[in-house]
Amino acid sequence: MSAYETVIGLEVHVHLCTKSKLFCSCPTTFGVEPNTNVCEVCAGMPGVLPVLNQTAVEYATRAGLALDCTINNDSVFARKNYFYPDMPYNYQISQFERPLCEFGHLDINVGGETKRIGITRIHMETDAGKNIHEGDHSYLDLNRAAVPLIEIVSEPDMRSAEEAVAYLKALHAIVVYLGITDGNMEEGSFRCDANVSIRPKGAAEFGTRAELKNLNSFRNVQRAIDYEIARQQDALADGEEIVQETRLYDATKNITASMRGKEEVHDYRYFPDPDLLPVTITDEEFSRWQQELPELPAARMQRFITMTGLPEPEAEVLVQSRAMADFFEAAAAKADARKVANFIL
Ligand code: ADP
Ligand code: MG
Ligand code: ZN
Repeated sequence: MSAYETVIGLEVHVHLCTKSKLFCSCPTTFGVEPNTNVCEVCAGMPGVLPVLNQTAVEYATRAGLALDCTINNDSVFARKNYFYPDMPYNYQISQFERPLCEFGHLDINVGGETKRIGITRIHMETDAGKNIHEGDHSYLDLNRAAVPLIEIVSEPDMRSAEEAVAYLKALHAIVVYLGITDGNMEEGSFRCDANVSIRPKGAAEFGTRAELKNLNSFRNVQRAIDYEIARQQDALADGEEIVQETRLYDATKNITASMRGKEEVHDYRYFPDPDLLPVTITDEEFSRWQQELPELPAARMQRFITMTGLPEPEAEVLVQSRAMADFFEAAAAKADARKVANFIL
């Protein structure tokens, strides 16, 4: 038994499947010719004015409702200043002090037990473009620049890689059920940064965290966190100190390697974006979006348990993907539900 306890908090970026970008009418289609989905606004030309995409607000709000968040009806866009060649504004439009959603939670099942994971906040922000490096040339593709994202930040409530994966799978199922993202992890529509620290068992304070970037599959999340826990334990055993840093996961070598020291919040010089008004949602919109929420995986699982008498872990497999659950339900309407379930499982 290890003398340490692991502490994990996740930041998940989800591409919203709106037709157009967050502040202009450029399409968000993936995989088209480089720099064809670009206009003056998302290319960051001087003097342009962003106009907020209403559907993005709707989708982000749906995520907040599904995760039992408080929805702030006066959230504010902020400029997060940093330089990167694939971000022509030299700042990212994000939300900081007043995000759209806060104080939510998500229940996960691990080892037959239910555990509640706190959701700190969900905010809207723009994605960056892409740098592509080939030989001694570098290319810049702005098709993805300013595509709408939500970032879902969890409390540091997870205690193992298994819990982190269970949380991510549950979250992935919910956002896909909501119809707000295609959830495609290979194309980067659902990406996760894992913050990992360890502390002596029973300690009141958290240890120093490392932030693991580039986790684009559930399997990589599991492996990267497990590697990182072992690395931190070895470091402490050798009398080293853990430094706060950003680390990249290399799936081929199955290691994490230091990328850069972790920047602090004040480095970004956040301030409210003077080009954008606070985001307001009318009562009519709010109640419509609430009423239109689809049945979510947890409720669907309970219904399937009643229909089939299956134990929870198996019913959970049936609802993990919305397409699978739809298929089961259509087939079960015409045959013995338990038999159909067993066949699919
Ligand atoms: P940043 O952008 O600086 O990473 P965020 O507030 O967006 O800051 O995210 C911080 C994430 O790190 C949250 O998910 C939080 O739960 C998690 N976290 C904070 N402290 C620790 C810690 N000591 N160990 C593990 N995770 C932590
Ligand atoms: Mg982070
Ligand atoms: Zn544009």
